[in-house]
Amino acid sequence: MTNFGQGMMIVLSSPSGAGKTTLTRMLSEKNGNFVISISHTTRTPRHNEVNGKDYFFINKDKFQELIKNNSFIEHATVFNNLYGTMKEPVFKDLLKGKNILFDIDWQGAEQIKKKCIDFKLITLFILPPSTKELKKRLYNRENQDELIIKKRMSQFKNDILHWKDYDYVVINNELLDCYNQIQKIVALESKGLKYNYDE
Ligand code: 5GP
Repeated sequence: MTNFGQGMMIVLSSPSGAGKTTLTRMLSEKNGNFVISISHTTRTPRHNEVNGKDYFFINKDKFQELIKNNSFIEHATVFNNLYGTMKEPVFKDLLKGKNILFDIDWQGAEQIKKKCIDFKLITLFILPPSTKELKKRLYNRENQDELIIKKRMSQFKNDILHWKDYDYVVINNELLDCYNQIQKIVALESKGLKYNYDE
């Protein structure tokens, strides 16, 4: 059961390209009480990304300063770029009763698990239905940049090793089915119940 009046932390991790960004957006758009945590990163924005909406894009010096000031709940290096979640906005929203969605990798999930024990936490690992489908999705997203696709596919092999550290594993075959499954998990967990895969 969640602490009275407090929101839950919902971590969605997955190999890059499995669809979790779309899923977090759907969850927040369809549930007024869900807020997406916007990370800080040193990565270069993609052509369709907006500063302050998709990420806060900052340089390495600024990122190091935030680490020094202990401003992050968690931070990690992914694909040679730095990513981190700021403490202040997250704790503020949790105390207001909002549920926070984190689109972060397994390193971040691990750190949050250790640090945020006062808040209810659910961790979900999203998987693509196949490596072939993942490659196709990356191909569409990354402007057919073969080098990036190659890097992300090789990272995939490392990422999936961490599935067993999560509370739930969800396969994103059909987006809507996957979304409904996550909704069910969150609804049950908010009542202190577990989702049963056999149902
Ligand atoms: P992308 O560059 O494709 O947006 O994200 C690359 C990876 O970094 C994804 O697996 C994403 O979940 C992860 N990521 C994004 N923001 C954060 C963050 O704040 N912390 C951590 N640990 N990982 C993040």
